[in-house]
Amino acid sequence: MRTTNYLLSTQKEAPSDAVIASHQLMLRAGMIRKLASGLYTWLPTGLRVLRKVERIVREEMERAGSVEISMPVVQPADLWQESGRWDKFGGELLRIKDRHNRDFVLGPTHEEVITELVRKEVNSYKQLPLNLFQIQTKFRDETRPRFGVMRTREFIMKDAYTFHLDQECLEKTYQIMFDAYCRIFDRLGLEYRAVIADTGSIGGSASHEFHVLAQSGEDAIVFSDQSDYAANIEKAEAVSPQVELAAATAEMELVDTPNAKTIAELVSEHNIAIEKTVKTLIVKASEESESDLVALIIRGDHELNEIKAENLAEVASPLTFAHESEIRELVKAGPGSLGPVSLPMPFIVDRSVAVMSDFSAGANIDNKHYFNINWNRDVELGQVADLRNVVEGDLSPCGKGRLSIARGIEVGHIFQLGDTYAQAMNAAVLNQQGKNQVMTMGCYGVGISRIVAAAIEQSNDKNGIIWNDVIAPFTVVIVPMNMKKSHRVADLAEQYYAELQAAGIEVLLDDRKERPGIMFADAELIGIPHTLVIGDRSIDNGVIEYKNRASGEKEEVKIEEVIAFIK
Ligand code: ATP
Ligand code: MG
Ligand code: MG
Ligand code: MG
Repeated sequence: MRTTNYLLSTQKEAPSDAVIASHQLMLRAGMIRKLASGLYTWLPTGLRVLRKVERIVREEMERAGSVEISMPVVQPADLWQESGRWDKFGGELLRIKDRHNRDFVLGPTHEEVITELVRKEVNSYKQLPLNLFQIQTKFRDETRPRFGVMRTREFIMKDAYTFHLDQECLEKTYQIMFDAYCRIFDRLGLEYRAVIADTGSIGGSASHEFHVLAQSGEDAIVFSDQSDYAANIEKAEAVSPQVELAAATAEMELVDTPNAKTIAELVSEHNIAIEKTVKTLIVKASEESESDLVALIIRGDHELNEIKAENLAEVASPLTFAHESEIRELVKAGPGSLGPVSLPMPFIVDRSVAVMSDFSAGANIDNKHYFNINWNRDVELGQVADLRNVVEGDLSPCGKGRLSIARGIEVGHIFQLGDTYAQAMNAAVLNQQGKNQVMTMGCYGVGISRIVAAAIEQSNDKNGIIWNDVIAPFTVVIVPMNMKKSHRVADLAEQYYAELQAAGIEVLLDDRKERPGIMFADAELIGIPHTLVIGDRSIDNGVIEYKNRASGEKEEVKIEEVIAFIK
């Protein structure tokens, strides 16, 4: 690809509503553009990465014995009525009508459609097990689309569905799919964990989520450092009271909030409860100083604009905080030390704080995010710790090791569904005895588009994205210096361009009339793993300059050895 034929679309700045690295960088690197809330166009650079993720997922599905199909995005409502989910699914299900006033949905998932297909196509146990997948668009009318393609309304999912005569067979296939998921995330070069997940409202007997570890993750996962135990926080909490605090973190809602927002705005926008019985605690830390922590406690029985410093002393004393000492100092200083707290005020935050007991709390991380925590359980006072990385106690549900909590991005989710859908939709086969037997099902999702963002969360620096060779939009970029004036430079650039293409290596030739600084900056921002810099001076020395994006290291490579070096 030549830059002059391409839609590069890089940008210096990201809009202020992009608060996490992947969102900012995907916009700046010209990977995506927002059309409307939760709806994104994939630009060429983004699409190239998306297709690579897709290819790896497809290969591993096929290796696991899954067969590709493609089902419609638009699904008739009667199937959803039959499964019972027309009433149960709630607001994420986008319902539409056709010109005949018939009800349809935009598919958020495809259990109904696949069950409809299989109940018609399969009638004997001899056709089982059956494993089908698709890579396709889903629509979920998310309450709060955010973080770019991390949580969109329209997104690309790989979803697979398996059909079995019995549970034993399902379990075998489930293990094969579990292993395939591990291979997918290994090949993508992601740091991830498979965790036990609650089967929740979907039902069934077992479920695992796959989480890419990242501070910006919306989920919390719990794992032991001395055993294989790893669970999502809801699941861990269900089996161990030790994870009470974790449970509190799990209920955090990450709300992206530009610093300039006022508390009053936040309260009204994000519906922070200020009811009579619920108290809201907001912790404010100044940008300049780590220790300059100010607590502002809004009690349920106060109007927002009536809060005074006195109230702080009144309610703060029985509390235990992560940053308790600073709060205590304030309390000691007594009423007036803060002056009347006037609202609205800028909400500037720079660290995480956990709170306790029957409070709803606003806390913060990294000077960027605002957490609205809501919980009503009795978290033991004193167990409060940094929300980002809690290490609590010596018990885990498995009884071994220390329990750690990390934040994760859910990139995959697999389920042993059992016969929930097959039963409701009467999907049965003739068994060996010639009797009708309801099928047993599994389902297996991967968030293809979310993976692209998750990979960037794990691999970026101040200059941009750092792709590995596997999912990089291009493997090599050729940056010719002064190509328009120097024939030698132009010829060598063209030669490498042709040779690399012939060798099957994806190469971008930056043939713009731009200053080298701009070309280097774009190459780094987009995150192309290998850069070849071609200039007259180095040609005089019989070499060209190679730069590795990940390590930042530069090397001189002999002109004739370049292609072999890249390979
Ligand atoms: P989440 O908890 O993040 O809302 P989910 O549990 O609702 O996800 P699943 O029904 O398990 O999602 O779907 C399978 C996968 O699809 C998820 O693991 C995730 O990677 C991806 N996914 C789900 N919702 C979205 C979304 N709104 N935008 C992008 N990817 C999504
Ligand atoms: Mg969801
Ligand atoms: Mg989930
Ligand atoms: Mg899920």
